[in-house]
Amino acid sequence: MENIELRGCSEDELIEICQKIGLKRFRAIQLFQWVQQKAVRSWDDIKNIGKSDQQTLSAYLHFYALEKVREQRSKDGTRKYLFRLEDGETIECVLMDYARTKSRDRHTVCVSTQVGCPVGCAFCATGLEGFRRNLSIGEIVGQVLDITHYVRQEDPEFQVTNIVFMGMGEPLLNYDQVIKSIQLLNHTQGLNIGMRRMTISTSGVAPKIVQLAKDNPQVGLAVSLHAARDVVRNSLIPMNRRYPLDQLMEACQVYTQITHRRITFEVALTAENARREEAEALARLLKRQLGHVNLIPVNPVVGTGMERPDLEKIKRFAKVLEEAGISVSSREERGTDIEAACGQLRRQWEGELNEPIGPI
Ligand code: SAH
Ligand code: SF4
Repeated sequence: MENIELRGCSEDELIEICQKIGLKRFRAIQLFQWVQQKAVRSWDDIKNIGKSDQQTLSAYLHFYALEKVREQRSKDGTRKYLFRLEDGETIECVLMDYARTKSRDRHTVCVSTQVGCPVGCAFCATGLEGFRRNLSIGEIVGQVLDITHYVRQEDPEFQVTNIVFMGMGEPLLNYDQVIKSIQLLNHTQGLNIGMRRMTISTSGVAPKIVQLAKDNPQVGLAVSLHAARDVVRNSLIPMNRRYPLDQLMEACQVYTQITHRRITFEVALTAENARREEAEALARLLKRQLGHVNLIPVNPVVGTGMERPDLEKIKRFAKVLEEAGISVSSREERGTDIEAACGQLRRQWEGELNEPIGPI
């Protein structure tokens, strides 16, 4: 028993570890609160656990806090963080709705679940970079903890209220770690974020959608649909060949039957796919599905060749859906001035690193 990541441990696991190494149960409970509720970043920040107990604990538990490489603040209050992991990989994480909500009612963190992504969608900066590895539980939860830590330096009362698994990577391809992270974030002695305030976004791993409904029926689901016909969807999301639309929609039906929850269907509109026949195909596909469509103008990423449609096209697309009785909204883009789209900051940063150093 050694080198277990501290930020990935549940309270029960810490209790078990403390019992094995001869420490009292309440030490484990204190430790869990320091790490998961007070969001400390090192052993030195833990105040009421004596040095000798800390030393004993640190022989078994590895405490790694993410290193902040960059922070960008958008005019609209979005903050984007680039964090470095222990092996040198970097991930992005975004805090939304911060400055806008003086009422302090909603602070959403968008977390990454993988370094890179194996799905390789045609419009996505993360997909372009390929897949490096899954994130551990401590690295997933750590993003929320470290953002909490940094914002509390300016605003001691700060609490994250909502989580969306919409950063880098495909959460349902790192299923176990994501589910355990949700349980940690939900813990009453931790950040205590309600299950219903957490949403997983997936590009369509059909069997895992069904598993999610069974394992965690309270967690919200967003499906990145983007196209309603297999030919189009295959070209945008290569994984559609593995789980084509009929399988995906069947899984969505099962999800709704089990959870009674409305799925959000994300549709990124490009100059190419924002056409009437695509909207009509979408309306047909979603006729019998409890859901809501969220239209997002695609964020142009260098190397993808994707362009945004004009506003008129988006409105016409929305109208077709509305007329078919489908609930639809069009997502206001946040943080576009700071490259808040998934994977863009990391690419920009790595591009700068790889730039040959010119004359000063
Ligand atoms: N892998 C998951 C979650 C991360 S991506 C998924 O695909 O759902 C989060 C969302 O950002 C997805 O809906 C994805 O389609 C969208 N996205 C990625 N790149 C984008 C871009 N350039 N413009 C608009 N949306 C994008
Ligand atoms: Fe992966 Fe999602 Fe990007 Fe597709 S959109 S490549 S699934 S992160």
